[in-house]
Amino acid sequence: MTTKKIQKFIAERRPTPYLVVDLDVVADNYRKLASAVPQAGIYYAVKANPAPEILSLLAKMGASFDTASVAEIDMALAAGVDGGRISFGNTIKKASDIAAAHARGVKLYAFDSEAELDKLAKAAPGAKVFCRILTSGEGADWPLSRKFGCEVEMARDLLIAAAKRGVLPHGVSFHVGSQMKDTNAWDAAVAQAAWIFRECEAAGVQLSMLNIGGGFPTRYRKDIPAMQSYGEAIHASLARHFGNRIPSEIIVEPGRQMVGNAGVIDTEVVLVSKKSSKESRRWVYLDIGKFGGLAETMDEAIQYPIVAAKKGPVGRVVIAGPTCDSADVMYEKADYRLPLDLEAGDRLEIRATGAYTTTYASVAFNGFEPIKTYCI
Ligand SMILES: *Cc1c(COP(=O)(O)O)cnc(C)c1O
Repeated sequence: MTTKKIQKFIAERRPTPYLVVDLDVVADNYRKLASAVPQAGIYYAVKANPAPEILSLLAKMGASFDTASVAEIDMALAAGVDGGRISFGNTIKKASDIAAAHARGVKLYAFDSEAELDKLAKAAPGAKVFCRILTSGEGADWPLSRKFGCEVEMARDLLIAAAKRGVLPHGVSFHVGSQMKDTNAWDAAVAQAAWIFRECEAAGVQLSMLNIGGGFPTRYRKDIPAMQSYGEAIHASLARHFGNRIPSEIIVEPGRQMVGNAGVIDTEVVLVSKKSSKESRRWVYLDIGKFGGLAETMDEAIQYPIVAAKKGPVGRVVIAGPTCDSADVMYEKADYRLPLDLEAGDRLEIRATGAYTTTYASVAFNGFEPIKTYCI
């Protein structure tokens, strides 16, 4: 989507490429999520877009933060929250980083293995720990399966073991996969979490927190279910599997949902060309590509709406970036069409690019600087 504020900003024609984020849209996304899952604490996944203006806005609105590194913890602290409103949600942490987080007052830590539990027990004694379980990632455009989480039996055993190691077994987490379009995708994992809660209780370990992760989508080229329908499905799953013993603390970790549709990348066309005189399809090269922030176009997984200022008849195009790497092609199979009179120097809007763009930009591959962010 775009907004009047964004259109006015883009009309000022700054040097491209850059990302412009409308903070009113972020605030609106926060309110939509809070009303869909009123029982949940909102931990914004900092990696989605760590612009200081976004973090301070969310901190003021009451958000907590899900972080993956000491640098992200420092960004959250700088936004005005204390360590009690920060979760160190990465299951893969150096012992020295755990100690640094502990020293900064961070109380909540993720793990999914015995070796990580060992590190937590040594470097963050007394911390609240939660175990991440595996999910299938089915139905997600950007799955996060396999790499994170462990089987439920192992999660149960680790949480029971945690109680004997000087950390506090606090609960269970999972992530259903990013850009999840199936509103019922949380059900299977909620059922597994409920099983772990019961098993731990039988072993004398009382868990109190369920972290249902992120995964809520943003609208790209296709419609998505309303936030409210995710909330209803999740609420039904909690009632179905926990009955009248719903965990006292529920956490959500939105990333994409909070910022995706709030941003537009303004880009300039560098070249329009053809590979042969017979081919009708044109190649459109932009001043931003896979290495400049559009990494989620990998396998054409995330398909951003791309809008030209020029109106008129359109034709099929391949869309590629400016670098000297042949992997720097964003869309070749997906059906993208742009004006037939498109030429170098024209501008395009790549919409719904508020999430996972600025943080995915390489430092200076081929000398191209990471993109700037303007929050308005
Ligand atoms: C990336 C991430 C999120 C955010 O995921 P979205 O799909 O963007 O909502 C939440 N929690 C964890 C642990 C993550 O790694």
